[in-house]
Amino acid sequence: MLKKTKIIATIGPSTNHPHLISRLIKKGMNVARLNTAHLTDENNIKELVNSIREESAKLNIHVSILLDLAGPKIRVDLSNIGDGTLKVSKNHIYNMGYSKMNDIPINLDINFKNSSGERAFVKVDDGKISFKVLSIRNNVLKLKAENDGIIKSKKGVNFPGVNLRIPAVTEQDKKNIEIGIKLKVDWLALSFVRAHEDIDEIKNILKVENKSIPVIAKIEKPEAIENLSKIVETFDGILIARGDLGVEMELSQLPILQKKIIRQCRYYKKPVIIATQILESMIKNSTPTRAEVNDVANAVYEGVDAVMLSGETAVGEYPIETIEIMNKIIVNIEKELVDFNIKEISDVDTNDYRSAIGKAVQIVSKTLMIDAIVIMTESGSTAKILSHYKSKANIFALSPNGAVCSQMSLYWGITPIKTDEYLSTDEMLLNAERILLEQKLIKKGQTFVMTAGIPVGVSGSTNMLRIKKIDKN
Ligand code: PGA
Ligand code: MN
Repeated sequence: MLKKTKIIATIGPSTNHPHLISRLIKKGMNVARLNTAHLTDENNIKELVNSIREESAKLNIHVSILLDLAGPKIRVDLSNIGDGTLKVSKNHIYNMGYSKMNDIPINLDINFKNSSGERAFVKVDDGKISFKVLSIRNNVLKLKAENDGIIKSKKGVNFPGVNLRIPAVTEQDKKNIEIGIKLKVDWLALSFVRAHEDIDEIKNILKVENKSIPVIAKIEKPEAIENLSKIVETFDGILIARGDLGVEMELSQLPILQKKIIRQCRYYKKPVIIATQILESMIKNSTPTRAEVNDVANAVYEGVDAVMLSGETAVGEYPIETIEIMNKIIVNIEKELVDFNIKEISDVDTNDYRSAIGKAVQIVSKTLMIDAIVIMTESGSTAKILSHYKSKANIFALSPNGAVCSQMSLYWGITPIKTDEYLSTDEMLLNAERILLEQKLIKKGQTFVMTAGIPVGVSGSTNMLRIKKIDKN
């Protein structure tokens, strides 16, 4: 059985070399994430995109490229202060704001709308240093420190309980979207999404350029939890950004939120990714903690599309080992998996051919103990839907479009294969059989199910399901 749950690895200083990228792909990386919070130079992004494309072509393994837009990330700016650090003492009072005159200056000129009084806090450096908000005047916050600590410049700041009037997409994000379009990345992700309308600006830019790149919403704000179902419905995928989410909300709520978000994604048939600290200790150690092994396993049991590595592969000391272990855990758990509950998926409506076929394929492949599922897809949309029905058989998505093949690498259970263009159903069926046999993905005497749209070559027309037993000799 091929691996079903996909691995996303963030490329950073520890891995930004063609040789290392090649090893990551060989060990099981399906999606490479480029994080614009750290990657700010267009040439660096371009070089990385080129390396990933080249190495994946050499290995003949499709890899998705995900460009993560940093969004309105607020940071401490201590560049004007001595050695760039500030010692904070418990119960002392501090001013925070855009002007360098403040005790703690920040990098963005934010319009602080209001705060929810008693429950308004400022958290610096992943919540390591916490302040209570006493008052807000002229966009300057008066804060009382809740603990001692040292703040280093550029550390992130969160404002749980404070209403911020900031744009969803920053000027820098807009430049990065243009870069992403130019470099033909497969996916975009937007940080700090608060409402479903946050996608509009990105879609407008894409529309002007006449391009369509799917956009993932990173769920890391309480507002996103409030508006969850609309966001899941509107965006093309969801990333559970447990890092910031755990600072913005009560930490003990995280497991509940994780389950709730996954359930929503299942309902709307949207891909879902679990991110942050999944194998965190491997940044410094060559083996993970037992709790981390369980976290990866649990993600597989929950049926998420992908698990994501951040620091582990970007700046860690053991990036290759991390992918290797993650891959091993996934494969072992998947061997044990019984059936997924697909009852939570929304009902198939009367016009939705793809979902009806997805459901049918799942039943047929289970009842007849089918060895493989072959999806012929122009745009990748049939693969996206079929992936949600979580068939145990290997699922191969054949597309004549290379970009579609890369994009589909993110979806649960889908192995993309690039093919030629076909003219007829019979030709398609014979060619699929030949490719699977040649690549040793199926054996003589085995049976596969194929779905396709007739007439061939029209996107979004899936209307056929065929069962084919390959001759014994
Ligand atoms: P980040 O997002 O790594 O871009 O901050 C992930 C998270 O917040 O968990
Ligand atoms: Mn984040």
